[in-house]
Amino acid sequence: MRKINFSAGPSTLPLEILEQAQKELCDYQGKGYSIMEISHRTKVFEEVHFQAQEKAKELYGLGQDYEVLFLQGGASLQFAMIPMNLALNGVCEYANTGIWTKKAIKEAQILGLNVKIAASSQESNFNFIPDVKFSDEADYAYICSNNTIYGTQYKHYPKTKAPLIVDASSDFFSQKVDFSNIAFFYGGVQKNAGISGLTCAFIRKDMLQRSQNKKIPSMLNYATHAQNQSLFNTPPTFAIYMFNLEMDWLLKQGGLEKIHENNLKKASMLYDCIDFSEGFYKGHAHKKDRSLMNVSFNINEDLELLFVKEAEEAGMIGLKGHRILGGIRASIYNALSLEQVKTLCEFMKEFQKKYA
Ligand SMILES: *Cc1c(COP(=O)(O)O)cnc(C)c1O
Repeated sequence: MRKINFSAGPSTLPLEILEQAQKELCDYQGKGYSIMEISHRTKVFEEVHFQAQEKAKELYGLGQDYEVLFLQGGASLQFAMIPMNLALNGVCEYANTGIWTKKAIKEAQILGLNVKIAASSQESNFNFIPDVKFSDEADYAYICSNNTIYGTQYKHYPKTKAPLIVDASSDFFSQKVDFSNIAFFYGGVQKNAGISGLTCAFIRKDMLQRSQNKKIPSMLNYATHAQNQSLFNTPPTFAIYMFNLEMDWLLKQGGLEKIHENNLKKASMLYDCIDFSEGFYKGHAHKKDRSLMNVSFNINEDLELLFVKEAEEAGMIGLKGHRILGGIRASIYNALSLEQVKTLCEFMKEFQKKYA
């Protein structure tokens, strides 16, 4: 029996695509070999690769002015590649909303850049999204759209004249996004859009000039990957194959509007369960900034382990909060169904009845 999987990442995948991968694992489309066993320079692989890139753009409604990059090193390598490629000689501005922006800020500082923290919610343990005003002249303005640990999410991205950079790792492909001031939008795909090993980025083409004009090792240069259609070296072929299946699945669900509708229903059901518990469950994030993806909440500390244990006995895994925040976290990414979230809510109500 498959568990209901609330893991924060890597995380649950649509069963359909796992089954398709299983069916094709040893013999890809009757060709007599696995997709894992062939060169990335073959027509067979290239087709998967280019289709995946096209579908990714189609889902976000992007046209010729953006390039899709398939990169490695996780979202974490982007913390360094972004300043290496996109900083000029001015100020790089960041909104600090959690551990992932802190890490991004640290990498820019290691590179010796002029980093400015334009806003921060660190003082209150990152439980809200601060208002932020980036200066028009910044080299770039950097945000993390969804804060995986604390369960906060931007409802609207800040308006800025400076090119906006978004780490969307934990709400990737979960809703339509207004790209009008976005210059670089990226995420590791293992949370909401596939398996680990692949980072997908959308870069506005004018930004590539910044990379071209700088001395950056080839593998770390966005222009290298753009010029080679992300086939400069061996890409993570199986992760790209899985990503392509995931793109098909998202399109089949009706695209990102439909996915978003469903995500809204799931999240409001779970937040209602927290809000109507009379304080038995306490949400971490301010209501206005609550994430549709990661629902972080607390219960009496003495009950935490018991909650996790009883949930496991009821077939639900991945509910233990991140070690730096504690408590409980339910990650309810795209592949989790409304039914599955309902099962968690019912469990929570029962648990409360037993132990309140
Ligand atoms: C998980 C996560 C990362 C780090 O991703 P890796 O692929 O492990 O490097 C970065 N940003 C956010 C928002 C994340 O959730």
